[in-house]
Amino acid sequence: MDLEMLNRLASEAELALAPIFKELEEISYKNTQRILHYYKENRVSDTMFSGTTGYGYDDVGRDALDKVYADVFGAESAFVRHTIPNGTTALTIGLFGLLRPGDVMLSVTNQPYDTLCEVIGLNGANGDGSLADFGVEYDQVDFKNNQIDFDSIENKLNKHGDRVKVVFVQRSKGYLNRPTLTIDQIGEICDFVHQRSKAYVVVDNCYGEFCEDREPCHVGADMIIGSLIKNPGGGIAESGGYIAGTKRAVELASYRLTSVGTGCEVGATLGQNRNLFKGFFLAPHIVMQAKKTAHFASYIFERLGFDVSPKYNEFRSDIIQTIKFGYPEGLIKFCQGIQGASPVDSYVTPMPWAMPGYQDEVIMAAGAFTQGSSIELSADGPIRPPYTAFLQGGLTYESGKLAILASAEKLLEEK
Ligand SMILES: *Cc1c(COP(=O)(O)O)cnc(C)c1O
Repeated sequence: MDLEMLNRLASEAELALAPIFKELEEISYKNTQRILHYYKENRVSDTMFSGTTGYGYDDVGRDALDKVYADVFGAESAFVRHTIPNGTTALTIGLFGLLRPGDVMLSVTNQPYDTLCEVIGLNGANGDGSLADFGVEYDQVDFKNNQIDFDSIENKLNKHGDRVKVVFVQRSKGYLNRPTLTIDQIGEICDFVHQRSKAYVVVDNCYGEFCEDREPCHVGADMIIGSLIKNPGGGIAESGGYIAGTKRAVELASYRLTSVGTGCEVGATLGQNRNLFKGFFLAPHIVMQAKKTAHFASYIFERLGFDVSPKYNEFRSDIIQTIKFGYPEGLIKFCQGIQGASPVDSYVTPMPWAMPGYQDEVIMAAGAFTQGSSIELSADGPIRPPYTAFLQGGLTYESGKLAILASAEKLLEEK
């Protein structure tokens, strides 16, 4: 296939995608409307952007941002902090906030994201301070025929009874070849669990924010957790994480964030408020750019003969596109192609490496303005069969499209 044919394929893709792009614009419009409504209701103003130092008492910007996140996400309460270094730490704060010795954490969406395995202590108590070390038990329900296995959830809830304190749901597929959950499906899980148990339903919301016009708390989740260098940071936030949910759940998490008693009352914002407000305002639009890029990639790579998920015309509740290469070199070349078309570090050649917190070697393409930001166009995947590339992000559809075409070209010439 030559370049001309690739360009023709791109035109064909955009024709097929036009009605889908229209739907994405509608979601972004509705989410932007909700954001503007709550920025207005909470009287967001320029005076909130300067921030505090030291203890950070009476930081009106921080408090307003917490309120805006809670309102937009349909939660009673929330905290957003640039000092939370990544999504894993936000999840750790949430889980340690809720779970006590003797409790059971029940994951109902297969094994959680790779980096959480050590936090949970899946290989048993080893003295590192995982949940297992503190006597928190872990149990899991896998998908059955790619569907949520409600019968097994019921059995596990009966088996562990009141000891189940957290029912854990991961919205996005993460690094597994499994489906992403829609908001409706998350709502079903919440109803099912709440009818049978007092457990908190905690949702790992990473990569899901603003993909639909509602969030998990709108359909009953007790706690949602995410990273600001993904969707809700809108490509502007330079670090951070958030937790939103019921008043009590967020209060308990805030005691792990800082200390019991101080909770959300402290935490200097050091001039970061403006970025966080601006990023959250932009987030629905940026998520739409990323999703357009993902749809485009799906179309192109399916036509080039690869197994893709989701398909170009399938609905998405996260920004991740997977492309199965079946052989390690395919995955590696693809990531190198994405890197080469990035605005930053385009001359760098990414290689597989043993990344902390991950069980297999991982290759990552990330030519991002913010280190590791995956709302910016990035591609990665663990070096294990079936050698699946996970593509996500794209601050602008135009740059995303250019990178996908560059990557396809690189792959084709190497074949
Ligand atoms: C990104 C992500 C996390 C957290 O990863 P960090 O690299 O620590 O931000 C957790 N769960 C899912 C599903 C994710 O996509």
